[in-house]
Amino acid sequence: MIHGSLAPVESVSWQSLLAQSITDPRELLGRLDLEPALLAPALAASADFPLRVPEPYLSRMQPGNPHDPLLRQVLPLGEELQEHPDFILDPLGEQHSNARPGIIHKYHGRLLLIVSGGCAINCRYCFRRHFPYGDNALSTDEWQQALDYIRHDPSIAEVIYSGGDPLAANDKRLAWLTREIADIAHVRRLRVHTRLPVVIPQRVTSALIDALCGTRLPVSMVLHCNHANEIDAQLAQAIATLRRAGILLLNQTVLLKGVNDRIEELLALSETLGDHGVLPYYLHVLDHVKGAQHFHVDDTTARGLAGEMLARLPGFLVPRLVREIAGETSKTPLPPELIRAADHLA
Ligand SMILES: *Cc1c(COP(=O)(O)O)cnc(C)c1O
Ligand code: SF4
Repeated sequence: MIHGSLAPVESVSWQSLLAQSITDPRELLGRLDLEPALLAPALAASADFPLRVPEPYLSRMQPGNPHDPLLRQVLPLGEELQEHPDFILDPLGEQHSNARPGIIHKYHGRLLLIVSGGCAINCRYCFRRHFPYGDNALSTDEWQQALDYIRHDPSIAEVIYSGGDPLAANDKRLAWLTREIADIAHVRRLRVHTRLPVVIPQRVTSALIDALCGTRLPVSMVLHCNHANEIDAQLAQAIATLRRAGILLLNQTVLLKGVNDRIEELLALSETLGDHGVLPYYLHVLDHVKGAQHFHVDDTTARGLAGEMLARLPGFLVPRLVREIAGETSKTPLPPELIRAADHLA
């Protein structure tokens, strides 16, 4: 029995929250008391890449504020439809780096396994907006081929569950896959890259923990959290559950104009992650994805922000500022613009 807001977190299944996500811009604007003038552009921009916001994420937005940093990540804007020559459909050339269906193997010793094409939220800045990965899961045969690929390459020490969002897959599939991977002797680590616990903390169940942590493999999880306002009590509880299970928690953030491009916001995010035992890992500059140019922060500004973070935070709470460049052997670091000692502690 569900008793309104007093219901314990576990009483609402993540699947029903996923299914009940808001996809109609009219409803989003109505729920947040926002200007009707935002509707026409929202409808136009969502024709290509639909709106999708789960309820627990919506509940952290401030009503009446069109500049809310969480809203900005999901609200379709007219700017998305402007053409810009530097912002293209496939900036990372990912369409060509698939070694096998379901696998992206670009770096030494680790590869991405596309566990699920679906996501719980549609982030307007995402390169996925032009990849209809859809929900077309691999066939049993394709899964075996992907596992064979890992079996036959002894250099692969780490398998990274990716997507879409890998946690959109059900626990049974994750448990099966994790057991298969743990049976491959040369694999030493399992990593999960996910935004799902951030947008639907109810995704973190004991069945999920069992599915990921039931083997010999040490597990790390890289959350995709972009703003301190995303970390509410429910997410904090989910993070605590993951940590109790022994999962190493990291976070990666995309630097986004109008969302987290002020130093106070980046400091608050790192500090809040630190409060909950999550280490900031990467701060990504935005890929040049068509339709996301209004989120662009130039390199000089990005490097300045990284320098300020270094001057203000303990080293372990400073994420590495990086860019992804097609064809490189790793993410490419951008050097922080260091703050001069004379200006420090002023
Ligand atoms: C980002 C990425 C990884 C992980 O890189 P790390 O530096 O180990 O976090 C692995 N494979 C691909 C294809 C990637 O894009
Ligand atoms: S892949 Fe990540 S950034 Fe892109 S839409 Fe899904 S959750 Fe958002």
